[in-house]
Amino acid sequence: MPVETKTTCPYCGVGCGVVATVAEDGGVSVRGDPDHPSNYGRLCSKGSALAETIDLDGRILHPEIGGRQASWDEALDLVAGKFAAAIKEYGPDSVAFYVSGQLLTEDYYVANKLMKGFVGSANIDTNSRLCMSSSVAGHRRAFGADTVPGTYEDLELADLVVLAGSNLAWCHPVLYQRLAAAKAKRPGMKVVVIDPRRTMTADIADLHLAIRPDGDVALFAGLFSHLVAGDAVDQNYIAAHTSGFADAFLAAGRLSFAEVLERTGLPAMQLREFYRLFAETEKVVTCYSQGVNQSSSGTDKVNAILNCHLATGRIGRPGMGPFSLTGQPNAMGGREVGGLANMLAAHMALENADDRDRVQRFWRAPAVAQKPGLKAVDLFKAVGEGRIKALWIMATNPVVSMPDADAVAEALEACPFVAVSDVLGKTDTTRYAHVLLPSLGWGEKDGTVTNSERRISRQRAFLAAPGQARADWWQLAEVARRMGFADAFAYAAPADVFSEHAALSAFENDGRRDFDIGAHAGLARAAYEVLDPFQWPQPAGREPAESRFFGTGGFYHADGKARLVAVAPAETDRTDAAYPFTLNTGRIRDQWHTMTRTGKSARLSSHIAEPFAELHPRDAMEIGVGNAGLVEIESPQGRAVVRALITERQARGSIFAPMHWNDQFAARARIDAVVPAITDPFSGQPASKNVAVAARRFAAR
Ligand code: SF4
Repeated sequence: MPVETKTTCPYCGVGCGVVATVAEDGGVSVRGDPDHPSNYGRLCSKGSALAETIDLDGRILHPEIGGRQASWDEALDLVAGKFAAAIKEYGPDSVAFYVSGQLLTEDYYVANKLMKGFVGSANIDTNSRLCMSSSVAGHRRAFGADTVPGTYEDLELADLVVLAGSNLAWCHPVLYQRLAAAKAKRPGMKVVVIDPRRTMTADIADLHLAIRPDGDVALFAGLFSHLVAGDAVDQNYIAAHTSGFADAFLAAGRLSFAEVLERTGLPAMQLREFYRLFAETEKVVTCYSQGVNQSSSGTDKVNAILNCHLATGRIGRPGMGPFSLTGQPNAMGGREVGGLANMLAAHMALENADDRDRVQRFWRAPAVAQKPGLKAVDLFKAVGEGRIKALWIMATNPVVSMPDADAVAEALEACPFVAVSDVLGKTDTTRYAHVLLPSLGWGEKDGTVTNSERRISRQRAFLAAPGQARADWWQLAEVARRMGFADAFAYAAPADVFSEHAALSAFENDGRRDFDIGAHAGLARAAYEVLDPFQWPQPAGREPAESRFFGTGGFYHADGKARLVAVAPAETDRTDAAYPFTLNTGRIRDQWHTMTRTGKSARLSSHIAEPFAELHPRDAMEIGVGNAGLVEIESPQGRAVVRALITERQARGSIFAPMHWNDQFAARARIDAVVPAITDPFSGQPASKNVAVAARRFAAR
């Protein structure tokens, strides 16, 4: 008899439910889970091709040390020994973990606990730093905690949906399908897309604002002024639930309309139409994604958006609110357990002494980290400078995905000890590993993930673990045991980790922490097996309340009020005569991250088969490159060679190139080798959307 298992898609932050069926002959098929409240049976092209990506081709099936097969004992002893030796000689901050939004919450929890509670350093950061950390920083500034106020349903209930820096159609396809279906049913519903490119998402837009790169702070500060001037703000909400209005208004008011036009590059008619729509529509949702976050002013952009929703009181009510879209399947789960170098666990703050004390007592930990650790870009710089003596990379491929990717490769080459846990044996990153640890892949591992709307769902195993591959949480717990922390890491199953994580979320909760899933503390393994998707919070002893926040205030700053943040646009045009184009990196519809899984599916690769760069026809003509000709893109950091795709969807002077391809495909295919490590000052998120580059027809050297 075929066996069906309910699980969750491992790709984007929509977090779709999947039913995986294993036939009697072992063949696997997938379909959307009709009962999952995030997708109601829908899947996108990537999700529906999952069964094509789970073969064992390229898998690492046993631990390796220096390229030779090793036993788990030998490999784990070596990892624990190297970390312990570095800590003893150079101190806790000489070691680091670089983890991933691909990890399950249970993996993340154990990694964070080991590093922050038992090593005593906060040097654990994640590739989610590259995807949504500006939203985290913006939420914390405005709300006092990292909370997404709304739900997916709000997009369907809104009369105006603003998509800022989001190619929803390709990057969150099932949410796009839900939005498009709602718009088809309700012709009065409007969609505004704010994006320098005319993407597929813009095809359903009533208004596409082809904004200048990084014009968003000016756009939303101008909107804030317009709302105040037109008496379109909610004075009662502002007075009762916010502070900082005067300063925010003063800062926004310094921008004249002419300056907003100049900084955004938009026609006055379009700008006025957007401002009118926002001012006159009560039910507004503003979704924002990498186009907002991946910027040197990403946090200010987020707060400029939040200011407009807070000033109108359009937050936390049906069809209203700002909505940060997470890129990865478990970017949100990582945030919940403190998987960022500047967070603690359960939404507690590393800089708060009471929070540190609370976590230390709960974990019975010897030495909770006292200060934030190194964020991703700084972490790899520290590796390159020799300050990190032992590094453990889990479930990510930074030699392809980090900015200044060649420098990351050089740093790993020079690092005294690098351990990599992965499913594949040969990636651009594993070649620098002294120890390779075989991890479980999708369909083999068990745990939970949290999607963009705070919904926690189970990923369940329906395939046997291949070879000697083991779960990441198990690898971490075994290393912890070898470092002398056996009692604190005595987990026998992911359910044990989840139960502890739920208990910590409720531990001495004084009402400040909205991430409270105490109802699941002490969850039995059998109950964990059948756990249905649910949204946080779920405190013990209380029926789940409406899953929206802040409709009637209740923010997490000490005075219970939200902060309106004074923001001013910074100059971000980085082009000059030598580097006259602005490069914007992103994703395509049918590939995921560095293609280690989606690259296995011929069907997915047939969508776009090669690395490419989109150029405006006149720019292509000026540099003498024809369609499908090779174009070389160069910055002071490095260069990449890709196919030219000539299209009027691209604005003049700008280039779009996807971040997926790696050097396994072709030499110089990694676009992140071109991207410099410029970051947002608050979040540390790299600015991957606004890179000054030169472009020329490629001539072999
Ligand atoms: Fe998976 Fe995202 Fe597609 Fe849903 S929308 S099937 S979560 S990739």
